[in-house]
Amino acid sequence: MNKELFKNMFRDKRLRRSHPRALIYQELSNTQSPLGPQELYQGLLKKHKRIGLTSIYRSLDLFESLGLAFKIINGSTVKYKLCELEDHHHHIVCKACGNVAELNFCDISDWSKKVTESTGYQVTEHQLNFYGFCKNCKP
Ligand SMILES: [Zn+2]
Ligand SMILES: [Zn+2]
Ligand SMILES: [Zn+2]
Repeated sequence: MNKELFKNMFRDKRLRRSHPRALIYQELSNTQSPLGPQELYQGLLKKHKRIGLTSIYRSLDLFESLGLAFKIINGSTVKYKLCELEDHHHHIVCKACGNVAELNFCDISDWSKKVTESTGYQVTEHQLNFYGFCKNCKP
């Protein structure tokens, strides 16, 4: 399934109410802070939607692979946040509170050139996360 197909799915109100993936997506979009699988499970349960953890994990994996969500690994906890930016972008994670900001710029073409020069590999994509402290948590 591609991104467009997935987004189209939510234009149908019936699906939006009943499909597990749509419910998980909605639950994520209702909150500003990142959520883990357990939190999603509990949140949905409160709304009388019982969705198995396996299905939650699978959906989150799918969202991540489609670029709809960002997976935040902080020590042993894993949380997800929906992406607002659609095109290629990067994230910075606060090491204290776990919040995430999206970076609407990517300026590493020089770097890619260097990678090619030094290895002979043709670069087709890259992943890069930044870590630090947000304004509220700055030590
Ligand atoms: Zn993002
Ligand atoms: Zn913070
Ligand atoms: Zn980039």
